[in-house]
Amino acid sequence: MMDVRNSPNRLLIADTDADTRRIAGDFAAAHGYTIAYAADEAQFRDLVGRFAPTVILIDPLGLAPQDFDALRWLGLRRGGSTLIVVTAQDPCPLAPEEIHMAYGLEVAMAEAKPLSRSMLEAVLLPQLIRSRQLCETDLRRAVDRAQLCAHYQPKLRRAAQGWELAGIEALLRWNHPEHGLVYPDDFIELAESHGLIGALTDYVLQDGIDQIAAWNQRGHRLGLSVNLSAKLLTDVDFADRMCDFLFSRGVAPDQLTLEITESAAFGDPPSTLEILSRLRARGIGLALDDFGIGYSSLTQLYKLPFSEVKIDKTIGMELAQTPAARMIVRAIVDLGHHLGLSVCCEGVESKTSLDVLHQCGCDQVQGYYIARPMAADDLGQWVPERPEDRPAAYAAVG
Ligand code: C2E
Ligand code: MG
Ligand code: MG
Repeated sequence: MMDVRNSPNRLLIADTDADTRRIAGDFAAAHGYTIAYAADEAQFRDLVGRFAPTVILIDPLGLAPQDFDALRWLGLRRGGSTLIVVTAQDPCPLAPEEIHMAYGLEVAMAEAKPLSRSMLEAVLLPQLIRSRQLCETDLRRAVDRAQLCAHYQPKLRRAAQGWELAGIEALLRWNHPEHGLVYPDDFIELAESHGLIGALTDYVLQDGIDQIAAWNQRGHRLGLSVNLSAKLLTDVDFADRMCDFLFSRGVAPDQLTLEITESAAFGDPPSTLEILSRLRARGIGLALDDFGIGYSSLTQLYKLPFSEVKIDKTIGMELAQTPAARMIVRAIVDLGHHLGLSVCCEGVESKTSLDVLHQCGCDQVQGYYIARPMAADDLGQWVPERPEDRPAAYAAVG
């Protein structure tokens, strides 16, 4: 498939019905979308990966008549496509909010067929504008005009009787003047390819370290995890500059963990190794993020000086219902411990998953069941003065 990622508007039409494919395809092509068609579930899964659609128009019951398998599968992927759900069943059996709650997907519309021109206009044109406007110039402006903000997700660590607050992970958000809160999956790649990722990371590091410094002053020693693009691992003095900055804020190096997603960008192993080793030598933690999917490989775990491995959220989200996911997690926990690493599992969405993770010795957990990422001002409820003030979610397992 040629250069599809250069086209900002990629629509995947996944429907067994040829008329729907034609009507939606003709309309969308006339308005500037690049289109791919899937007539069955196998083609759909293949194209979600290769075509990386920004918008998916789908009849989930047409593709897999027995249930909502296609939506479930999509929800488990790290994606970010906006969904338009259309069904032959009238009325459409699911509302957009229900699909969002059940599968974590962004849904612009869920309606019964047939597709009308006004329906397509109402739902496809706003999406088109949105993707067009997330451009480099806008992102540059966002840095200058302070449209960035960091949200924080609590990370719990295993305690004898349950879990206790270990720290927070900073997750970048872009407060777009027209489109509201934009999530990193929609702009990190753009930032990386236009040399803006350094500025974004500086922002998150500063904001996060300031938060931790303020908690230090109130007597709460929390850890901070910040995501670092592998593209930034080119400056051998990074570790020294990082430490100077931490000391200037009264934060110890071992309060900071940098999370790196292994990627093709781990291009130059000698310098990557040197930079990571310097960070570890100064006490800064290093986590291999999103382990278990994509590019992650076992060898990186011992060839690079990681202190933590984070099991990808798609595995964590499957824990409650899939025995195989439990076995994989157990195996990673054992492997991590044998290599001297702390193991964190992301995507904890239920009490069952949390209990499974406690039983199998997982060291840290993170997920919507515990808390969603939140604005810094809301963190107060997570760092209570007295243990009995702990919020219900972690008191329940404590
Ligand atoms: P990540 O570092 O693996 O962060 C976890 C992502 O999973 C976050 O998405 C978080 O909101 C989401 N999440 C947490 N718990 C659950 C759960 O229980 N269920 C589900 N379905 N999702 C959960 P978010 O904030 O959209 O970030 C996506 C990715 O963007 C991050 O994945 C990270 O790789 C990247 N990112 C975020 N902030 C930055 C940054 O400052 N710099 C760089 N380079 N990348 C960043
Ligand atoms: Mg992370
Ligand atoms: Mg992750």
